Amino acid sequence: MTDDILEGEAPRAAQLGAAERAGLEAALEEALLGKEEGGVPIGAALLAADGTILGRGHNRRVQHGDPSAHAETDAFRAAGRQPHYRGTTMVTTLSPCWYCSGLVRQFGISRLVVGEAQTFSGGHDWLAELGVEVIVVDDERCVALMTEFIEQHPDLWFEDIGEERP
Ligand SMILES: [Zn+2]
Repeated sequence: MTDDILEGEAPRAAQLGAAERAGLEAALEEALLGKEEGGVPIGAALLAADGTILGRGHNRRVQHGDPSAHAETDAFRAAGRQPHYRGTTMVTTLSPCWYCSGLVRQFGISRLVVGEAQTFSGGHDWLAELGVEVIVVDDERCVALMTEFIEQHPDLWFEDIGEERP
């Protein structure tokens, strides 16, 4: 991606605090790492209530041969055991699938920052209805990354979201 793209065009990024912006950059770095590894380029970071990064990770379905290794679960596991998740924020480059939305719901993660929900829309609206504070940033870098991946690797993509390729 060019530096222009990396400068970012995220209309709603202004809604994010400094820590959340840093969290989104970390999630995007993870997504790019996943791309370099030949995997599904989705990244995530779990932030503590004070904004520090508790854990970060990326989708490792291909790398680990593990269909449950989504970006959000990878970041969640990297954060280790927490006494509770009140006040924490899950930052992810792509709208979370139902499985990862369930994780946010199950553990009472308070906030969700979504890089983009244009190429795929999972459970972020459902979480908002349940009281999770949700911000969809519409980050063009995240959109470009997933658009390119879906075009180049449709089989991997449909496998990842658990759907048969049309
Ligand atoms: Zn997921």
